[in-house]
Amino acid sequence: MAAAASPRKKITSFHPPQRVLLGPGPSNINPRVLAAMSLPVIGYFDPYFVEMMEELKTLLRYAFQTDYALTFPVSGPGSVGMESCFVNLVEPGDKVIVGRNGVFGGRMIENVERCGGIPIIVEDEWGTPVDPNKIDDAFKANPDAKLVAFVHAETSTGCASDAKSIAEVAHKHDAMVIVDAVTSLGGSPIKVKEWNLDAVYSGSQKCLSCTPGLSPITFSERAVDFVKNRKTKVQSWFMDLNLILNYWGNTVRTYHHTAPINSLFGLHESLLLLKEEGIENAWARHQRHYQALKAGLESMGMRYLVKEENRLPQVNTIYVPEGVKNEAEVRQRLLNEFNLEIGAGLGPLAGKVWRIGLMGYSAQSANVMLCLSALGSVLADLGLPVKVGEAEAAAHQSYATQHAAVAQKMRQSAVGKKK
Ligand SMILES: *Cc1c(COP(=O)(O)O)cnc(C)c1O
Repeated sequence: MAAAASPRKKITSFHPPQRVLLGPGPSNINPRVLAAMSLPVIGYFDPYFVEMMEELKTLLRYAFQTDYALTFPVSGPGSVGMESCFVNLVEPGDKVIVGRNGVFGGRMIENVERCGGIPIIVEDEWGTPVDPNKIDDAFKANPDAKLVAFVHAETSTGCASDAKSIAEVAHKHDAMVIVDAVTSLGGSPIKVKEWNLDAVYSGSQKCLSCTPGLSPITFSERAVDFVKNRKTKVQSWFMDLNLILNYWGNTVRTYHHTAPINSLFGLHESLLLLKEEGIENAWARHQRHYQALKAGLESMGMRYLVKEENRLPQVNTIYVPEGVKNEAEVRQRLLNEFNLEIGAGLGPLAGKVWRIGLMGYSAQSANVMLCLSALGSVLADLGLPVKVGEAEAAAHQSYATQHAAVAQKMRQSAVGKKK
């Protein structure tokens, strides 16, 4: 019997709407990056491609603030970068101290277990940093621990941890560190070489503002030596760095897997944008827009989850105001009426907080203003005591104060030079 004819909708090309992405990633993408990605595909051994790969590694070292030879983008999202660090550095039976203060620390524990390692879990409350003293205490009970793993910028809470101090503790006990820098890279200071970090992974779609699906990683010489001299084979064929380096290294170039060619064009362009801006300027830009957003949010009576000194400028986690019955409806209205995406809370924070990201190309004043006016008007419409326009005024005032402070500093340094 012939299949019944169904009134199927004809499939046509897919055209996503233009959104303003102020969630926990992905962030909006500079048109230069999208243009680079639409250029013709070439082979992964093409001399032009090989030259671009070398530039990409140089640019990544700049972003990570390091000179580590093993620095390249893993073909896969941040989660694959995470897994690459664990499968290469954890051998069965190894003890790994993991600091958990949010969602992503929990995933690290899962990774350790799947590698046959033994996780030693150090808990800190969600919204507070990983405590280096507790890591030190964990070594007292487990002097044979080989690694410490923690998240530098917890995207689930908006909290930064002190990577430098935690690495110092680990090294004092002759252990190495695995650091999740998915959300910090390009948005707030991470100095891989100066802080002596051993294995660091990141992601392309947060403060680097490239398309999702690539994970820059960097390994110290000590970490590379460990991988080369492992007693057991890395259990993942795809992620075994000993094999991947035959393609991404700079001596031999043999086929490993087909590189995501055009995505790499995009990452090259996004890193070039970072280099052109200057990484310190990029960090300062994230701070500036965070200050303005904060002024606006606080003028609407919003409160932050994280203490000021531990806050990430790129992830603003605020409590949902009490008068809001259904927080999902607010996010939906922002999306439908203003084309604006903000993030929800995860795990124990679900329904309790919103996460407003100011990442990479999304971190600009027009977006801060849109967010404040859109959120203000939806909340006012729901009957909350919010005066539309006040938050924007507070943000403008913050920008003005910050501009004045910068101008004052420049005048002082000009006077200093004349003397
Ligand atoms: C987003 C994120 C990841 C995962 O990255 P994906 O690209 O989504 O796989 C890991 N860690 C942190 C801290 C993140 O914010």
